[in-house]
Amino acid sequence: MHDLEEIIDQTSKGLNVAEIRSKFPVLDQEVNGKPLAYFDNAATTQKPQEVLDALNEYYENHNSNIHRGAHTLAGRATDLFEKTRSSVRAFINAPSVEEVIFTKGTTDGINLVASTFGKTYIGAGDEVIISTMEHHSNIVPWQMLCETNKAVLKIIPVSDTGELDLQAYEELLSERTKLVAVVHASNALGTINPIKKMIQLAHDRGARFLVDGAQSLAHLDVDVQDLDCDFLTFSAHKLYGPTGVGVLYGKRELLEAMPPYQGGGEMIREVTFAKTTYNDIPYKFEAGTPNIADVVAFDAALAFIRSIGKKRIQEQENQLLAHAVELCSQINGFIPVGTAREKVSVMSFTIRNMHPFDVGMMLDAAGIAVRTGHHCTQPLMDRFGLEGTVRASFAVYNTNEEIDRLYESLVRIAKRKN
Ligand code: PMP
Repeated sequence: MHDLEEIIDQTSKGLNVAEIRSKFPVLDQEVNGKPLAYFDNAATTQKPQEVLDALNEYYENHNSNIHRGAHTLAGRATDLFEKTRSSVRAFINAPSVEEVIFTKGTTDGINLVASTFGKTYIGAGDEVIISTMEHHSNIVPWQMLCETNKAVLKIIPVSDTGELDLQAYEELLSERTKLVAVVHASNALGTINPIKKMIQLAHDRGARFLVDGAQSLAHLDVDVQDLDCDFLTFSAHKLYGPTGVGVLYGKRELLEAMPPYQGGGEMIREVTFAKTTYNDIPYKFEAGTPNIADVVAFDAALAFIRSIGKKRIQEQENQLLAHAVELCSQINGFIPVGTAREKVSVMSFTIRNMHPFDVGMMLDAAGIAVRTGHHCTQPLMDRFGLEGTVRASFAVYNTNEEIDRLYESLVRIAKRKN
């Protein structure tokens, strides 16, 4: 197999997608007698061979617990684990590795912030602002916090095209606002929110800002220093990496001031029955044995992304999205949901007179994997008066031929009821 850099050099116009696909063994299969077209990348991406190999290599040669053993394997496992932390630091341009905390995923990161920063600094009468397009994981932890601490949750409205109402946002901000938590790119609509501007507005009012980066890190360059966000959370499994690993970035002064999330091994400096003192960041927030193997393999996923480059990934995905939208808009009964000017590669839609689930089942029969339902964004679906949508989300390994198959299948499906 060629080195990816070499493959890219071989192609004068963008990517050699066939070569990229050959790194993803799971894509090379038939589903219901048809070649698999995997369009559920916003839920989780597939993993390249490098990630699978890194997992095997770790368990075959290095497996050990980290940060504690005096023996060679423990040292190697620790080095590999910390190497991923350095790669993540560079990936998001965090000022230091201490500001990179490993979590189970985006959900875990948000709950960490709600349970520590939230519990400590958001009190009775204080306000938290989120938006109508949040994933349930960026709604429920704040509802729980507001209920316990008697704080108030405020919601930024969304327009018919699926964009945030920035004027309403400015009006919601006040000296009572302690935190704004908003998704960078919507999983249900694809909308890219103008978070840099939103962060600035929050800071002008003295509020902190958490970015839910679950859907943006795979597609967009995210630089936490340029954004000046206070917290950023994301999941490895949406970035060609393993499940069960996520990242919380937080500004040093906040992480140092916040109480720990969970108590246990690794997060302490000294324990006596009289008093326990806590470890430095990031370990203060990493109680217990972490998901070592998957963190180690996540480094291979970051290397995969680096070797192609976000710019090329974005170009490929934008092209796929444009192709899909152009074709599908011609279908009688095709109703797009979310037509923002700035989008990641998510095409959400309904077919007139048909339930999204039925459309999904029929596409599955044709070997095409899409997501159907509310996408863990029920308040957003309510806003559009929908029970759910069909969502096709594209990754760097998808092709125009696969999208042509989606179109052809949708033409046949829509014809039944339109
Ligand atoms: N936020 C958004 C925007 C998401 O798309 C997701 C995953 N669908 C999450 C949060 C939660 O991510 P995870 O399930 O990996 O914790």
